[in-house]
Amino acid sequence: METLPTELHTLVDLIDRYPQLHARTLTKLEFKNHSYPVISAELGAKEADVPCVLFVGGVHGVEVIGIQVIMALLESILSRLEWDSQLQLLLSQIKLAFVPIVNPVGLQNGTRCNGQRVDLMRNAPIEAETKVTFLVGGQKLSSHLPWYRGRHGVEQETQALIQYVEQLKANASSLISLDAHSGFGMTDHIWFPFAGSNKPMQNIGRIHYLEQLYQASYPHHSHYSFSPQSLIYRTHGDIWDYLTMPKTDKPFLPLTLEMGSWIWVKKNPRQVFNFAGFFNPQKQHRQLRALRKHTVLMHFLMDLAASRALESMSQEMLIKQNHVAFKRWFQR
Ligand SMILES: [Zn+2]
Repeated sequence: METLPTELHTLVDLIDRYPQLHARTLTKLEFKNHSYPVISAELGAKEADVPCVLFVGGVHGVEVIGIQVIMALLESILSRLEWDSQLQLLLSQIKLAFVPIVNPVGLQNGTRCNGQRVDLMRNAPIEAETKVTFLVGGQKLSSHLPWYRGRHGVEQETQALIQYVEQLKANASSLISLDAHSGFGMTDHIWFPFAGSNKPMQNIGRIHYLEQLYQASYPHHSHYSFSPQSLIYRTHGDIWDYLTMPKTDKPFLPLTLEMGSWIWVKKNPRQVFNFAGFFNPQKQHRQLRALRKHTVLMHFLMDLAASRALESMSQEMLIKQNHVAFKRWFQR
């Protein structure tokens, strides 16, 4: 246990301290004579058929800031639940699920890939429909190059996340997920499927509607750039693409938060000499700012789920939003 990375220790501690946190080991990874669990933790309504919000972090081990953002949210909620009756009420209406560290071996090693050198976000059993971006789009050439898709099928971590999300999706009345990453660009992006196809995902209008509600509710916190990932770059094996493929009437909104890290590098150029520096703020005030910056969005997602606004969209409204979304992102 003493060799576990700090963030995994913190998670295990939280589970010990808060019995209302329902934790499960989704899978156990063996790496260099140590064992690393991939843990899910749930809070809130236990009934089936309630809206669910899932927060995911650490798919890429080196992107520690994503893990910290998700863990900070979990810690804040647990601490507030002791006195905050509004939050208690909210959590009687929705389920919250967390998988803060999908790739604990990558976290331990300070790598994007897992222990087998596979990039988990290129490893889902799905081929891109269109030409992918060279190398970045996923490659099977060599495990010594980044974005390696693996040659031995689906990795344990990928499988564990896929199964867990499928199960949440089957039980909930709707599912919004937020998967926290860092490393691309100067600004914060919100991406959604598809990464491997130029087509719109089913009922993309729901995401457009979510964005509209967010901007109207929090105009001063609306610094995110929303777009299908394929407009930025295209990849094979995206886990969220895979999970979005089966068509369903149930709202499923898989969002990826991609925190722009180049701004941290620009403000502190010496960071480029440190691999983790590409993906994480190295100065404490910037780290704290990153931890604060996404709180409003994350709480909005919970409030939105509880309101069931996505579930109760009329067919007419959905068709209209699908149309607007299509014009915005696909007719260029
Ligand atoms: Zn990432």
